[in-house]
Amino acid sequence: MRKTAVNIARLLLALTFILSGFVKAVDPLGTQYKIHDYLAAIGLASLVPDFGTLASSVILSATEFLLGICLLFAIRRRLVSKIVVVLMTVMTLLTLWLAIDDPVTDCGCFGDALVLTNWQTFWKNVVLLAAALIVWRYPLDMPRLISESNQWIVMNYSAFFILVIIAGRSLYTLPQFDFRPYHVGTNLREGWQRMLEGEDSPYTEFFIESTDEGEDITEAVLGSQGYTFLLVAPHLENANDSQFDRLNSIYEYCLENGYQFYCLTASTQRGIGRWQDITGAEYPFCNTDETTLKTVIRSNPGLLLLNDGVIIRKWSHNTLPSDEELGDRLEGSPLGRLPNDNAAEKILWILTWFVLPLVLLTIADRLWAWSKWLRRKKKNNNPLNSEHKIMRKKIVAGNWKMNMNLQDGIALAKELNETLKADKPNCGVVICTPFIHLASIAQFLDQDIIGLGAENCADKEKGAFTGEVSAEMVKSTGAQYVILGHSERREYYKETPEILKEKVLLAQKNGLKVIFCIGESLAEREAGKQNEVVKAELEGSVFNLSEEDFRKIVIAYEPIWAIGTGKTATAEQAEEIHAYIRSIIAEKYGNAVAEDTTILYGGSCKASNAPELFAKPDIDGGLIGGASLKCADFKGIIDAWKK
Ligand code: PEP
Repeated sequence: MRKTAVNIARLLLALTFILSGFVKAVDPLGTQYKIHDYLAAIGLASLVPDFGTLASSVILSATEFLLGICLLFAIRRRLVSKIVVVLMTVMTLLTLWLAIDDPVTDCGCFGDALVLTNWQTFWKNVVLLAAALIVWRYPLDMPRLISESNQWIVMNYSAFFILVIIAGRSLYTLPQFDFRPYHVGTNLREGWQRMLEGEDSPYTEFFIESTDEGEDITEAVLGSQGYTFLLVAPHLENANDSQFDRLNSIYEYCLENGYQFYCLTASTQRGIGRWQDITGAEYPFCNTDETTLKTVIRSNPGLLLLNDGVIIRKWSHNTLPSDEELGDRLEGSPLGRLPNDNAAEKILWILTWFVLPLVLLTIADRLWAWSKWLRRKKKNNNPLNSEHKIMRKKIVAGNWKMNMNLQDGIALAKELNETLKADKPNCGVVICTPFIHLASIAQFLDQDIIGLGAENCADKEKGAFTGEVSAEMVKSTGAQYVILGHSERREYYKETPEILKEKVLLAQKNGLKVIFCIGESLAEREAGKQNEVVKAELEGSVFNLSEEDFRKIVIAYEPIWAIGTGKTATAEQAEEIHAYIRSIIAEKYGNAVAEDTTILYGGSCKASNAPELFAKPDIDGGLIGGASLKCADFKGIIDAWKK
């Protein structure tokens, strides 16, 4: 039920972010104008240069699109869900302000593709914020669509697609999807006439005035039969003049063939004169409302071709038609007809070149993961095959408890260091010592061979807790490990699952690897409750961790009745409960995590019984108390991995 809710929220967010990022990237200039409107509403428009707003437009659209992709594929789940909560909180507050103050009429969330009122946008954001909170609370409930090792392909491919193919191409040419009322196929003449008749219309600001007498010539221009070229340049002062030759020759072509050609601009007479000086333009200039011109075409300048008042072509200044393309006369040229490219074809193109490769990659990745899982399962089912042990780390860890003064401890650590340097172990070795030894031993211990750990740490970060030692202090000595949840601490110092949970979190926060002890008492074993006990201990203190953090934990199963008593669990007894522990880890975190978790056995483990214990498939080493206090005894246990 919870997982279903999280995944519904995830899909809702993913699809909304992908759609909203996509429609913005399709029209980077439109998004730039909207950003400019927002800045104008708060009086900052003059402080941000055009390239700043354009860069923000591209960054914003790509970020939204990629966040959507991350949610869809469950990539970097925790980080992404946090970013989405922050983003949605900001957006919800912003749109509340828009709804109340109305400084801009359309928020522009979905570009021109879907225009919402400010209040509709606010309520939409409230729903999305609720979804973001659900996803943020349980990010790991989103199953991955692609394994971690292949996520970079999805991210790079999506970033290339949105930045280069969509935003870059739209900027160079024109938006690939035109949602404005001036798209190819629009009958401008009819639309404009309906506006004159008083119908609700998007063309109320569309007018063309001659620059000399200020006469309204809209009707004459739109009403004329045949072909009309409209060169649209909202601002000639900052229009791109690199193609002026091409524009002049298109004008000549019009003169030769009797077609109309006008340049529509919102520039002043001075701006027009400057353009004429630079480009030698001889075509007539007319004035039109600036915002309308920016809506007509997303290029400065851009060219429109009308036939009988219908827009049949649009070109950016980078893609103006050549003489060959124009042909002798437009009547006989393909350019003189409405093109038959339609939205369905463009959508199909995107499906083929963006969606399909990702779907194929996902299928291949899942098949690969599935075959890997099958292979591993097959191997693990074969009792002769113990290769799976190689997957997880084998460890022999010593727990010195409250033994040895500083000098004796240093001497033992030195002896062990020399011994293991001379005869390299076949497994990870750790010694966990009283706090007082840590800093001194860390000075000389070869930590590539022997890890160093504490036997405990505080459940508080720092402050007035006399006598306590924090995780951060342990880490600062040079130690890497800490034993937590040892039965002696649970029993004598009343450490509850809640306290241990805090300790584990603090230890991990400070970069310590936790050796987490669990195990049942004699009475519990006799009552057959051992499974119940270890399960509750894991649930109480470590099953709250994310998969990533749980992977850093080493479990030590230590039946209390075997600790320091000389009574060892038989290898079969130990294996049975180790296998059970692994199965509940698998239930919680999945097989892969369970297979990689190191589970140590502790309780009167000696050189004599270690080989038999360690030979069991689910026993990955030992946590050694008494026998770790003498170098030779400890080495004997370490060497069990060599047998
Ligand atoms: C321990 O206390 O962690 C332990 C396993 O002790 P011993 O080896 O002495 O039983």
